[in-house]
Amino acid sequence: MANDSHRDGQFSEKLRVPEALTFDDVLLRPKESHVEPDDADVSTYVSRNVELNVPILSAAMDTVTESRMAIEMARQGGLGVLHRNMDVDVMVDEIEEVKRADELIIRDVVTANPDQTVREVDAMMERRGVSGAPVTGDDGRVLGIISGTDIRPYLEVGESDEVREAMTDEVITASEEVTAREALELMYEHKIERVPVVDDGNHLTGLVTMQGVLQRREYTDAARDEDGRLRCGVAVGPFETDRAVAADEADADVVFIDCAHAHNRNVIEGAREIKESVDADVVVGNIGTREAAEDIVDFADGLKVGIGPGSICTTRVVSGSGMPQITAIAQVADVANEYDVPVIADGGIRYSGDAIKAIAAGADAVMLGSYFAGTDEAPGRVITIDGKKYKQYRGMGSVGAMKSGDGDRYLKDEPDTEEEYVPEGVEAAKPYTGTLESELHQLVGGMQSGMGYVGAETIPAFKERSEFVRVSSAGQQESHAHDVMITDEAPNYSPGE
Ligand code: 5GP
Repeated sequence: MANDSHRDGQFSEKLRVPEALTFDDVLLRPKESHVEPDDADVSTYVSRNVELNVPILSAAMDTVTESRMAIEMARQGGLGVLHRNMDVDVMVDEIEEVKRADELIIRDVVTANPDQTVREVDAMMERRGVSGAPVTGDDGRVLGIISGTDIRPYLEVGESDEVREAMTDEVITASEEVTAREALELMYEHKIERVPVVDDGNHLTGLVTMQGVLQRREYTDAARDEDGRLRCGVAVGPFETDRAVAADEADADVVFIDCAHAHNRNVIEGAREIKESVDADVVVGNIGTREAAEDIVDFADGLKVGIGPGSICTTRVVSGSGMPQITAIAQVADVANEYDVPVIADGGIRYSGDAIKAIAAGADAVMLGSYFAGTDEAPGRVITIDGKKYKQYRGMGSVGAMKSGDGDRYLKDEPDTEEEYVPEGVEAAKPYTGTLESELHQLVGGMQSGMGYVGAETIPAFKERSEFVRVSSAGQQESHAHDVMITDEAPNYSPGE
């Protein structure tokens, strides 16, 4: 009889399985604290050499991160990761757009020619969206500068006069070494709004504008490279060395090997090749186990974690495979911490509380898609359904996204017809949420509150000090708003999201 129960499978080794946990299964244990949330420092490393003031990345998805999102993410102290559903030359343009956005010295200067008519220059400035332009000769030397104020009287009485008549020819210039402070002093002293930058021979090499200087000062927490330009991340496929090299040459700061299952021999080989071909840091993902981390940590500058937690992701139900995110992060972090390699938790974060739990489990930064997909800065337009505003949000493994890119993130060959796609994601919509800045304010503020409850002033200290408690399903219910009817929407909470 004893043998029978054995045969029933009750004692099968196969079913002696470990437990894996996700965000709702755990809470941070409150601890004695001397830290006020607003004083908590959330700066972190996203890869070996790239530090951020805010531990947050926007996902490499075609409904989340293009240059507009990447610019705003970096200005706010985080990092945008450009998606890869675009041609390599478009990607290069997008990276350059981010890099140029807050540059002190503008390189792509709109210039006027002394022989042009005032009317022509006025039309050109309007077209290019500038309110003034240095006037240069054929050899590139600065001869003068012309602004809307110079032009205005001529438009009334002499619009076909030449620029040389209307321009100011005593130009205040600066050298390449000019700092923001020096440029502002020059502008203040001479009551001007733009200072051309010239070389020793008075040839134009760039332009500093008042608007540019003031904009930079507004973003004190911005993520910047050594030259003061905004930081930019970019996703590449594991077999796309050419794309990675092009991104590197365009000065992307971090290259993300973007694959749904990076613990695959070919993917690791491809990632190694890319790492050897670029100067930028290379983050490899996604993975979700200790063994995967062990096989990659020796060459990667960062590890990205997430097998199936994403809001638009169906990998776990389609493939039957995945790893609940808190356990996945903790396993990878166990290995990565020994090597001082940063860990990024990617996917499944619905609330600021999830984000700080991810850090407690061992991540150094978090990546979000759905949280940002409803913002102004995400690509795509606002649509209205039943009077409510939404923006499109789709998985990169959805049929729609795979059709407009290559499905190799999921290691599948390109099929001949649409019906043959085996998607691992869905196409959806997110409520429109306004500016990225206000979303980030809530997200970071909530994470800082978590650090306050645990009593840790920095991210590394928080990783050390934080402890989890396991929550029952009754405990989960208690966590959410309950037994009430919500009358006013909170900016950082909507039930059942
Ligand atoms: P979210 O923040 O919306 O929960 O998750 C975003 C993350 O989901 C992305 O950064 C990416 O890693 C992952 N992801 C994006 N699209 C898909 C998809 O179609 N399928 C799967 N499996 N994961 C996806």
